[in-house]
Amino acid sequence: MSIVHVRTGDYRTKYHTDTGCPSLNGKQDTYMGQQSMSEDEAKEQGLTACQHCKR
Ligand SMILES: [Zn+2]
Repeated sequence: MSIVHVRTGDYRTKYHTDTGCPSLNGKQDTYMGQQSMSEDEAKEQGLTACQHCKR
């Protein structure tokens, strides 16, 4: 099981495998932090894999 990273707050539609992903850390004006969860848990919340992250 892999751990993924998800933004909290707005733009919470993707999960990320790379903590340095610009989509995870960008839009600082709305950035409310991030949290980690299992990939399965992210999918259960309706999140989809980020296309920018290196896998
Ligand atoms: Zn990403």
